[in-house]
Amino acid sequence: MLESLDAYRLAKFLRETDSTIKMVDDMLLKYATPIPLTESGFPIYVLKTQGEDDACILLRDSGCAAYVARPRTCRLYPVSVGPGEYGQDFSYGLCREKPHHFVGNTVRTKDWLHDNFKREDQEFVIAEYEAVTKIGQLMRTIDERNKTNAIVAILFARYYDFDLDASFMPQYRNNMQKLMEVLSTMT
Ligand code: SF4
Repeated sequence: MLESLDAYRLAKFLRETDSTIKMVDDMLLKYATPIPLTESGFPIYVLKTQGEDDACILLRDSGCAAYVARPRTCRLYPVSVGPGEYGQDFSYGLCREKPHHFVGNTVRTKDWLHDNFKREDQEFVIAEYEAVTKIGQLMRTIDERNKTNAIVAILFARYYDFDLDASFMPQYRNNMQKLMEVLSTMT
């Protein structure tokens, strides 16, 4: 799954190594595909896959072609982050589906999160939980005739409307505010 911050970082990284990538739009066209996440049609992007085993499009024989800019899900694996309960900002999960991944040196979860879940990610995830909840609520009230326009507006605000030479979070907050205003007119 690619979230807004993942897409921004990947595009920023890949434009240095791939001359066809100039902006987020180019990266999404080449490496990602949109899918509806919920029944109401909430759209997200996921990385494309390749080959018989549906491997990630960024996987090479030598490893991940965008390792330093890999999505948060990849960086945190096998730990996942969710909305916090009881006044906590986050809750954490541990994926045990692939026991063969748990070999090698012992890594403390605290150190893993310290290295892979930095302040910008934390700020983004908190803002994202808030935004996605509101978007989800608005999506359920949007007139059927406006659904396609709403999906386009959501994709534009969450993925496309970013200047790679400007900081991510101020743009994200501004985009989410504008998006809520637009969606409110479609109910
Ligand atoms: S870490 Fe693996 S799954 Fe994640 S982007 Fe890189 S190749 Fe793809």
